[in-house]
Order: sequence, then C-alpha cells, then structure tokens
Amino acid sequence: MQTPSSSLIFSDVGIVGAGAMGRGIAQLAAQAGSRVWLYDTSSHAAEQARTALDHQWQSLVAKGRLAPDAAQAYLARVSVAQDLQAFAPCTLVVEAAIERLDIKQHVFADLERIVSAETVLATNTSSLPITAIAARLKRPQRFAGYHFFNPAPLMKVVEVVRGLATEDSVCQSLADYARQMGHTPVQAQDTPGFIVNHAGRGYGTEALRIVSEDVADFQTIDLILREQAGFKLGPFELMDLTGLDVSHPVMESIYRQYYDEPRFKPSVITAQRLSAGLLGRKSGAGFYAYDNGQARLAPEPAVPEVATLPPVWVSPRAARRPELLQLLKNLGATLETGAHASAHALILVAPLGFDVTTLAAVDRLDATRTLGIDMLVSDEVTRRRVLATNPATRPDMRRAAHALFARDGKAVSVIRDSGGFVTQRVLATIVNIACDICQQGICSPQDLDTAVTLGLGYPVGPLALGDRYDPSSVLEILFNLQTVYGDPRYRPSPWLRRRGALGLSLLQPEAD
Ligand code: NAD
Repeated sequence: MQTPSSSLIFSDVGIVGAGAMGRGIAQLAAQAGSRVWLYDTSSHAAEQARTALDHQWQSLVAKGRLAPDAAQAYLARVSVAQDLQAFAPCTLVVEAAIERLDIKQHVFADLERIVSAETVLATNTSSLPITAIAARLKRPQRFAGYHFFNPAPLMKVVEVVRGLATEDSVCQSLADYARQMGHTPVQAQDTPGFIVNHAGRGYGTEALRIVSEDVADFQTIDLILREQAGFKLGPFELMDLTGLDVSHPVMESIYRQYYDEPRFKPSVITAQRLSAGLLGRKSGAGFYAYDNGQARLAPEPAVPEVATLPPVWVSPRAARRPELLQLLKNLGATLETGAHASAHALILVAPLGFDVTTLAAVDRLDATRTLGIDMLVSDEVTRRRVLATNPATRPDMRRAAHALFARDGKAVSVIRDSGGFVTQRVLATIVNIACDICQQGICSPQDLDTAVTLGLGYPVGPLALGDRYDPSSVLEILFNLQTVYGDPRYRPSPWLRRRGALGLSLLQPEAD
C-alpha cells in the first residue's frame, strides 16, 4: 500500500457497511489519498464493493478522465477487512451499516475496544439521533454524525453533526477531511433531519396540502413550481423519483420526532398511495403513470377562444402593483379606471397570502366576475402565469381571463381558490422552515443555504429565496395564510418575524 500524504487529516479510514453509501464514501476517501478498510457482515459485500470501485475507476480511465496509474493507486489503497480487528490502525471509522439504532450502538461499542482513544468514530445515519447512538459509548466526545448524500461521490455536501458530547476538534477534523475529499462540509446540531432533510420538509408537504384542498392536480402543481417558482423538478415528480417508500416514512419520522409539529404534518394522500404500491418510477406508477420510463402527461387545457374580451378593472390594492397594469397594457386589455368596475368588467385582484374570496369579500367586489393573479414572481421571470377563481366566478369570466393572459403565448394555469395560490404558499413555507432552523441554532444561515442548494438542488438557498422576494412580503404571506386557514403550520418563525419587521436580510446572523 502507498503511504498517504502527511497533510491528510485521516490517513487510515475504516468503513463499516459496504452498501450504496459505504462504497461511495470509500471511493471518496481512497481518492483523497487515505488507506481504506471496508467491512461488511454480509459475505462478499465488501469484496463486491471493491470490485465495483475498480470497474468505476477503469471506466473513467477508458473515457480518458482518469490516468491509469491513478486508478491503480486508488484501488491499491482499498482493502477488504474480514473483521473489525483490521480497523486497529484507523484514525477515522465511518459507519454506513443498516439504519438501526441497536446495530449501530453495537458496532461502535465493538469499535471502541479495537481502535485508539484518539480515533474519530462517525455515523452516516440519515434519521437516528447522534446523541442516542453515542449514549452507550465510553468516549462520546470522539463521536459525530457524518452525513453524506446518495450518491456520495456526486452529492458534494456532507453534514457534520455534533452530538451533545462531541468535541469541537472532532467536528473541525471531519469538516477539513470533507474538503480534502472535494466536498463542502456544513456543521449541524443533532436534531431530527439535521439540515437538509429538515429544510426539505416544506416543498412536498405544502404541495400535498394544496392537492388535498383540490386547488389543482399534481401535474398542474408541478408545472407551476417549475415554470413559475423555478424548481428543477416539481414536488410530485420528485416524490416519484425518490419513491414513496422512502419519502413518506421520512415525512412521518420528522413529524413525530418534532412531537407533531404542524409545519411537518404528513398527508393522507401519500399514506394511501404508498399502501396501494404507487411508489413512483420504481414501481412503474406513482403520481404519474410511466411508459418506458417516460411520464404520461395529460394535455394542458386549451386556451379558450373568446370573441370579445371584456374590459378589465383592477382592484385598488392590486393597482398599486405597476407591473400588473403594465402587463395588462402589453396584453392589449381595455383598462377601466373608475372607482368601481362597470357592470361588464372582468375584476382582477392580486392577493399576497390571501385567497381571492377573502379579497372579493373585504373589498365588496362582485365575486362572480373576480379572479386573482399571482404577481409574486415578476412577469418577466415567470414562464407561466397563474390565475385563481373563487367559488362564485362565472365560467365566461374564467375563460376571458385565461384568454387574455395567454394572448402573448405564455403558459397560463387557472386554479381553484387557494390562500397564496401555489407558488406563494410553497415558497413561504420553505423560507419559514429554513428561518426556524436558524432560530433553533441548528446551523449558520450560510451553511443552511449551502446545504440545501447542494443537497436538494434548489435554485438558490431558502434564505436567499426569502431575501429575493423580500422578507416582509414572505411574512405578509404567512400572516395572511394563517388568517385564511387558521392553521398553526403557517405561523411565522421569530427569525422571519424579526428580520421581516426590521427590514434585515434573512442571511444575517445575530450580532455578537
Ligand atoms: P445498504 O443497504 O445499501 O447497505 C448497508 C450495508 O450494511 C449492507 O451491505 C449490510 O450488509 C451492511 N451491514 C448491516 N449490518 C452491518 C453490521 N453490523 N456491520 C457491518 N455491515 C453491516 O444501505 P445504504 O443505503 O448504504 O445506507 C447505509 C447507511 O447510510 C444507513 O444508515 C442510511 O440511513 C444512511 N444513508 C443512506 C442514504 C441513501 O440514500 N441510501 C443517504 C444518506 C445516508
């Protein structure tokens, strides 16, 4: 075996469990220059993992992306261990065995008898408390969470999780070593879901809430969140990719671990679909049906043909948004400027957090002619406009509004009434959960945005997203959502309340 470079934080690394994660972490450690020992209780699993790594490096050589001698050197650093005794020289052991508390506790108790007192012991658990795994250890101060994402070599972020007893120097060494492996470390306190799986609760659960109110179907919500809010994948596409067998239990687990926090409440929709075996792509059907791996999409409702469009009257609150008036002019609408709408006018409101019904009632508008438009995302940016009816909206007015806003060829979705449409309530929920992670001191604001961008592939971190749409507007959306729904899931985090009230950036930490 080659001698590792003296600048390496950990020269000898043991990996317990040679499944998907153990193999990926072994790859990163060997590529960083460490000697790696792989151990698995299942016969041949470690051997198979080493062979798979060899094939992977050889395929990179074949593509000209890796020098042949580098591939050889990497492989020479990886050994299969027959038992944990082989880990005696290790300065770091990362456990990536099955997700069971009792098994992990046993593995670490055995390891403590084998390795030196200075060795850092780390677990790749996604959902078990670090402090609970450490509870049986003699040296819990040398123990931490080291949470990689799947596939570990490609997902460039790792959460370094501090248990109640973990020493600072252990977290620092794990973070430095993550950098040596080419990853970005983020530091998290030991809390359910750590950073990424906690921050990720908003997207799917709020989308499920919207579906459960029959506001729109799965596909429409996916389209809106991709084309208006800018996400790479809609929440239902994402759940189909991950599989409900994985996502639904995570939703339940984090909800329960936070003692039924309303913000994380899972949905009966996923519980039922899971029980029906509609897991997603892996079972051939989920929220979408699949033909040869391609999702079957329903055709979008056609833009109605309307011979003569009615004049448009914009409610005074909505008229305060110059962008809406400009858009209507660009679309060639006949704008009414009187204090009240004429008897034939289409009436437009632009709610922030409220539903169309509430604004029509409060402003004493003729609800039969009233629709709302979501103006949170600038019309220049959005690839889809979203309109909402109220229960009294006449079909001719719905058709006229749809035809008007589709006049320049931009996609339009017309949904049923919803506090904050789709984009506003999903974005506000994501921002609010992220703010509360900061409020709880789970991680720094910067680490939060880094972890979510790299771990979930969001276009920008949730706090930067909140800043983009203005924290006081996000706060207003949440206050109004609470008024519409009376549900504590929308209560704003103090982090957001204070920064929104003072006009501060959400990324701004507390002054020391
Ligand atoms: P996996 O099922 O692919 O591999 C687990 C391996 O551990 C198996 O080969 C099994 O034989 C082995 N094993 C079981 N008990 C063992 C023991 N006592 N000693 C040694 N080996 C043992 O699982 P995975 O997806 O690689 O997950 C491993 C860990 O990583 C889990 O804690 C999981 O929660 C976590 N994790 C998984 C993902 C993911 O997306 N798969 C992401 C992040 C973290």
